[in-house]
Amino acid sequence: MGRLEAFGKWLRSMLCITFDHPPVIQACFGYITCARCGEQLGDNLTGIYNGSGQMLVGHDCDECDKARASLRPIDRLLTEGV
Ligand SMILES: [Zn+2]
Ligand SMILES: [Zn+2]
Repeated sequence: MGRLEAFGKWLRSMLCITFDHPPVIQACFGYITCARCGEQLGDNLTGIYNGSGQMLVGHDCDECDKARASLRPIDRLLTEGV
């Protein structure tokens, strides 16, 4: 991992620790991770994704559109896929 990459990862984690994880999640091989810091939030989509106020990256349903529209600037900062 390069220096810049390590710094970026640190910065993302700090943002999540300070401002909480954004309501943006990624699903990868059954694991649910924060779209910003990559922390694993759960291992079951139905357990963490309630379809209200949360946006699933790459998912284009009405709920995700709504969630995307209501993201705060801080939620979008360094978050992938928003
Ligand atoms: Zn996070
Ligand atoms: Zn959706």
